[in-house]
Amino acid sequence: MSSHSWLVRTRHHTILIEACTGNHKSRPGGAPLFDMLDRPYLDRLTAAGVRPEEIDYVLCTHLHADHVGWNTYLHDGRWVPTFPNAKYVMSKIECEALQVGGHEADFATWGPLFYQDSILPVLESRQEMLIEGGFQLGDHLVAESTPGHSPGHLLFALRDRGEEALFSGDIMHHPIQVYYPDWSSAFCFDPVMAASTRRKVLERATENRSLLLPAHFAARGACCISHNASGFQCQGLDEPDSD
Ligand SMILES: [Zn+2]
Repeated sequence: MSSHSWLVRTRHHTILIEACTGNHKSRPGGAPLFDMLDRPYLDRLTAAGVRPEEIDYVLCTHLHADHVGWNTYLHDGRWVPTFPNAKYVMSKIECEALQVGGHEADFATWGPLFYQDSILPVLESRQEMLIEGGFQLGDHLVAESTPGHSPGHLLFALRDRGEEALFSGDIMHHPIQVYYPDWSSAFCFDPVMAASTRRKVLERATENRSLLLPAHFAARGACCISHNASGFQCQGLDEPDSD
């Protein structure tokens, strides 16, 4: 598995989709995937030609620890928004669910942690934009409600000149779920709903010949979906990294 951020530039906006795990965040029991990371994420962003202050929007598909980490960084001992000029687009349903307490047993211990270090600083700096499905950002991006993995999970569809890319977050974690769409992860809030959402997205990606960009498929992780004799198949994945 990988954790991806995607950088999208439109004529008017510079947009970061997904904020991965972040650095120096305590996630007990999550090591080595989550706990106290020290990765050159911002250097890589700069190498891609964008400084943090140039990001206009950060889009979070959902509010789990591995999707909101770079919302903030540690500055003089305090968690502050990494992208000072950005609006952080987050699901209203998801934010409310997190505020009333961990909505999943598996995240109950982490919920307060990542709410405190990765979401609350964004709310306190009034940089949040709480949205629901149907929200449109500029001419090319629209948020769609895709609940199941989490209560307010969102997919972001990017459309231009008849083509479509689907930033599908955690609707699928691994390509095997293309072949077995009824397999939901252990971290799904509602596994049955997650499977139903997954099937709908796979059908639609097949029909529209969409480029699918899940958050955790290995290597670059972009793929196209088509039908095969027994259901769906996944094409165009890069070879996974050797390590
Ligand atoms: Zn995830």
